[in-house]
Amino acid sequence: MYEREIETRSVEETKKYQYDQLKNMIQRIYDNVPFYRKKMDEHQITPDDLHSLEDIQKFPFTVKQDLRDNYPFDLLAVPMEEIVRIHASSGTTGKPTVVCYTQKDIDSWASMAARSLVCAGGSPEDVLQNAYGYGLFTGGLGIHNGAETLGTAVIPISGGNTNKQLMLMKDLQTSILTCTPSYALYLADAIQSREDLSLEDLNLKIGVFGGEPWTNEMRQEIENKLHIKAYDIYGLSEIYGPGVGIECECQEGLHIWEDHFIVEIVNPETLMPVPEGEEGELVITTFTKEGMPLLRYRTRDLTRIIPEKCSCGRTHKRIDRLKGRTDDMLIIRGVNVFPSQIESALLQIPEIACHYQIIVDRIRNLDTIEIKVELDSHLEIDDLDDLKIIEKKTDTIVHSVTGIHAKITLVEPHSLERTSGKSKRVLDLR
Ligand SMILES: [Zn+2]
Repeated sequence: MYEREIETRSVEETKKYQYDQLKNMIQRIYDNVPFYRKKMDEHQITPDDLHSLEDIQKFPFTVKQDLRDNYPFDLLAVPMEEIVRIHASSGTTGKPTVVCYTQKDIDSWASMAARSLVCAGGSPEDVLQNAYGYGLFTGGLGIHNGAETLGTAVIPISGGNTNKQLMLMKDLQTSILTCTPSYALYLADAIQSREDLSLEDLNLKIGVFGGEPWTNEMRQEIENKLHIKAYDIYGLSEIYGPGVGIECECQEGLHIWEDHFIVEIVNPETLMPVPEGEEGELVITTFTKEGMPLLRYRTRDLTRIIPEKCSCGRTHKRIDRLKGRTDDMLIIRGVNVFPSQIESALLQIPEIACHYQIIVDRIRNLDTIEIKVELDSHLEIDDLDDLKIIEKKTDTIVHSVTGIHAKITLVEPHSLERTSGKSKRVLDLR
């Protein structure tokens, strides 16, 4: 373990630490951020009303719209001169959301990212190829600082440029690959299609993937294709990038670093806490952050707390792998469907590849859903009836997982668009 004392702290010790830190944070934001003071005043609550960790439930939530409304600097809890870095997330419409960090914030993030890399089996002896995008997106620099803090040699190649990725992967004997899971799969397919390159030429051992929800079936596919262990890392641009939490060697949920965050799970409609172990929306409070602390931030990510102790010995709470975001959920003819459910269904079918696109539309007031999915490139089809059988099988499995029937369109291998960053797999035309 990287920070054994912290990572194995007893639950009681963690709670006491969190309470002290939370008390301090709530006072800090009440004194320094007019937005929070106003919100607490509206809720007729003051920092003095916090008498236990559970009392956090009395305090108001923060949502993404609050970040937009306070663009760019109105959520700062410190003077601008203490800010050393500004990240921004791409806004699909209008202004991006801006997140500001002090040097201490950057250091905390780097130590969490380093701890996360160790959790996935990384060490200073490794060579880490960082194919997350560098720039305003937090993925690239987040992993980069973590790797350097750990003492791992990092190749800051950023996303894209696949031929160069593969050349350096071979020549520099990369042992850890970090990127989005969809780009990992893309690189795996690229290696398979190259005659002058085989897995034996490479030294890949570990993949640390995040930035978009992905399923266990997708993990299996990537692990089989690249002969690596693939770990899910969690982060979100409004808080920190990758390193808020990660899976350990058990690959059974992600430890969230509780010496920096308080996690809650609430029912996304009633906003009431759910019983431990039940699914709901992840809410995070960042009590150590100086630049832009967030109180009860609604992440919109759906997951649950895994109540059992982890056999790795770490005591920090684990969340289950993300099912998706509340705003990714598609409502099709009244049925709630997550793209991750469709993905896990598709990956059960050996005749097709895990490249797909989901197209949702409304025709004559009726929701329609079409799934375009690529055939496996090794498949030999000599009879058109075979295609019909695969289509039927795909429809049956998708229906059994999601409860809806979709129009299945099989397409040629490599015909759907690929990206080096987050994939755009859902097209909702309604
Ligand atoms: Zn563990």
